[in-house]
Amino acid sequence: MSILPILTLGSTGRYVQLLQMGLDGLALNYNGFAIDGVLDIRTRDALLNFKDRFDLPHVGVVDSVTWKILIENVKAVQKLLNSNGYHSGYPDGWFGPTTTAAVKKFQTDNQLYPSGIVDPRTRQRLFNPHPKDHYEYLPSSNALRSLNPHVASMATRFLELTRANQLDVHIYAAFRSWDEEDRLFAQGRWTPGNIVTNARGGDSYHNWGLAFDAAPYENGMISNDVEKFKRMGQLGLQVGLEWGGNFKSIVDYPHFQFTFGLNTWDLLNGVRPPA
Ligand SMILES: [Zn+2]
Repeated sequence: MSILPILTLGSTGRYVQLLQMGLDGLALNYNGFAIDGVLDIRTRDALLNFKDRFDLPHVGVVDSVTWKILIENVKAVQKLLNSNGYHSGYPDGWFGPTTTAAVKKFQTDNQLYPSGIVDPRTRQRLFNPHPKDHYEYLPSSNALRSLNPHVASMATRFLELTRANQLDVHIYAAFRSWDEEDRLFAQGRWTPGNIVTNARGGDSYHNWGLAFDAAPYENGMISNDVEKFKRMGQLGLQVGLEWGGNFKSIVDYPHFQFTFGLNTWDLLNGVRPPA
């Protein structure tokens, strides 16, 4: 492969367009950037979201490592489409019209919305067509038992610690169904309200039992005391959870998660946390 250019905010041209086509095709265009060959703020934000998945530095620069990971991920999709009989051309890592057409055909044949982008449900159908655990169809639940057992035990220790610290913390969301996640994703985009998430169904750790939302309560209501949320966050960190108050993109004080080092593409592709 020829040497790919380093891109950053304000870059223009054919390679920016190829970057945009790749991000868009991999369902990372959550903020509606235009595929116009201009690396604008929206494209940069989508790029940061992509880099976060792979623990790449949170800077809006497309360097050789970023190119490599993007191209490898597109290639993996192309190879699977081809091996399933959906002609996506030579697997070159560029998400062009032939690949888009193959994705649409695959989606149509699998009763998925034919968007031509590899959204989470399409990714799972392609990479892990027969999962034994059926996360895609489980209902939402606030119960600890809806969580991965290891995460549930961390949540229990976390709740004990909050009580020992005179905080009245309750978990108000644990497993979230993929349908509910899709409704949340639509909010502020195609339905009224503010944007609350950048994750489609299958693309949130809540959709895998690896995340929960908690809040300190006062007089039976969620507290609006930010300091209490921060104290709660510190206690979550103490038991080894990741806390949304430290997130770089959408700061999310009630959110806790434990990922086992897996991103949601790993999970969709069929990788599971150790038992
Ligand atoms: Zn959350």
